Amino acid sequence: MSCHKNILLLLFIVFVALPATAQKTAETEQILKTFHTISSHEILKFAEELSSDKYKGRLSGSPEYLHAAEWCASKFKEWGVLPANNGSYFQYFPNEYSEVFSKGSVTYSPKKNKEIQLLFSGDYLPGSNSASGTVSGNLVYVGYGITAPELNYDDYKNIDVKGKIILLESGIPYTKNDTTLAKWTPYAYHRYKFRNAVKHGAAGMLYIGKLANPNTVNLENFIYAHIDPKIAERIFSDGAKNYTEIKKELSEMKSPSFAFPENQKVTITAKTNYFPDAKACNVVGMIEGSDPVLKNEVIIVGGHLDGQGYLGEIFPSALDNASGVADILGAAKAFAHSEVKPKRTVLFILIGGEECGLYGSKFYAENPLFPVKKTILMVNLDMVGNGRGFHIANGKSFPELFSHFETVNNHYLHRKMAASEWRKNYGRPRSDASNFENAGITTFSLYTSESVFPVHYHQTLDKTDVLTPEIMEDAAKLLYLGILGIANDETIQVN
Ligand SMILES: [Zn+2]
Repeated sequence: MSCHKNILLLLFIVFVALPATAQKTAETEQILKTFHTISSHEILKFAEELSSDKYKGRLSGSPEYLHAAEWCASKFKEWGVLPANNGSYFQYFPNEYSEVFSKGSVTYSPKKNKEIQLLFSGDYLPGSNSASGTVSGNLVYVGYGITAPELNYDDYKNIDVKGKIILLESGIPYTKNDTTLAKWTPYAYHRYKFRNAVKHGAAGMLYIGKLANPNTVNLENFIYAHIDPKIAERIFSDGAKNYTEIKKELSEMKSPSFAFPENQKVTITAKTNYFPDAKACNVVGMIEGSDPVLKNEVIIVGGHLDGQGYLGEIFPSALDNASGVADILGAAKAFAHSEVKPKRTVLFILIGGEECGLYGSKFYAENPLFPVKKTILMVNLDMVGNGRGFHIANGKSFPELFSHFETVNNHYLHRKMAASEWRKNYGRPRSDASNFENAGITTFSLYTSESVFPVHYHQTLDKTDVLTPEIMEDAAKLLYLGILGIANDETIQVN
C-alpha cells in the first residue's frame, strides 16, 4: 500500500468511521443503561398483581379477566407504549364462559349404605363448564369416549350409558406425530368427547385427570367433575377390575368399555352459571419503528393473560401465565423508556381465551393488526418464570433470528439456552403460537427450563411463591435486547 493511500485511509477513519463508531458507542451505552433498569423486583410485582385475588384467576370472558386486561393497558399507557388497534389497547372477541360458584361435591358409594365424600382439590376438582345441579347414577367406563367409524373405533360399542355417569379418559389412542395422528386429532378435543357423551345419553361424568380446565363446553344438564387418577384406581378395584390392565387394553385400541356393578354409584353436585354471550380481549400495545421503511415490518411478542379462574377456590395461574405476561411487561417498559428506538415496529400482545381454546390468538390470526407478510417473527411466552435456563422452540430452524437471542445470552445473561428445530404438529394445537404459525408467521416459543420449584400445572398451588424472579428478569432482558437486535437487523427479510 502506498503512503498516499495510507493517508487516505487514515482520513477516512478519522472523519467517517470514527464518528459513526462514537455514535454507536453512545447508542450502545444508552441501550445497556435501559437494559440494566429491568429489575426482578418489579417484574415479580407485575406477576403478583395479576395473580392477586381481585382478578380471581383471570378466567377469560369473566369481568375479572377484563379488569386484569385494563390494568395491563393502564401500564402500557403510563409507560408510553402506544395503543395498537386504531387507538385502542383492546381487541375484543366473543368468549362464552361459565362462572363456578362453589366447590360443589362428589360423593362416591363403593357399595350399598356406604358413602365417601371426595375431598376438594386432593381428590376432585369441579368442572369449569359443568351444568348446575345434582346428578346421581351408576358408573360406566367408556375409555377415551370416541366414536370414529372411519377409523373402525367406538368406545360406546355394545355399552349403554343412558342416564349413567361415565368415567372418561382424556387423550386419544394414537400418539405418534405423523399423518395418522391427524386423523385422530378431531377426537382429541374435550368438547368433542363431551358432546359425544351427551349424544349417547350420559347424564354426568367423572373426567379422569385432576386439573382445572376451561377448555371444555357447557352442555344442557350435563354435570361433571375431574377426579384424581388414584380415585379412579379405587373405583376400579372396588369393581374388581385392574385399572393398569384396562389402560393397557386402551392403548392397544381395544376399547375396554364396561359397566360397573349396580351397587357402585356416584353423585356429583355443581353450582354454576353459563354466560354464552360474554366477550374477552387481547391487550395490544406497540413501539413504533423509527425507520421510515422498516417501521412497516413488525415483530410480535405475546403471551396469554388469562388463567384458570375460580372453582370454589382461586387458581392464581401465576406461572401459567402471569409469569410470561410479567416478562413481556418488563420488556415493553424498557422499550418505551429506551432512548434508542427499534427500526422495525414491536407489537406486544397479551392474549385472551388461551385456556378455553386459543380464542384470542385465533382472533388475531384472522384479524391481524399488521399484515402477516410484514410480520418477521412472533415470540410466544407461556410459563416463563420458574427455572434456571431457557429453551426456544423452533430457534434452531431460524438461525438468523435465533442468533440475536444467543448473542444476548452469551454476552450478558450466561444462562443455559437450548433451541429445538421446527417440526409439523399433526395433533391438537396446544399453544397460541400454533395459530400465528397457521397464519404463516414464523414463531418462537420461549420457556424456562430446569425448574427450581415444582410446577403446579392448573392447580390452586400455582402461586407467585413458585416463581423465580431472577429468570423473569433475564427473560425480559432477553426479549428487550434480542428483539431490538432483530428489529434493527437489516439483513433479515420477511419470509
Ligand atoms: Zn399457559
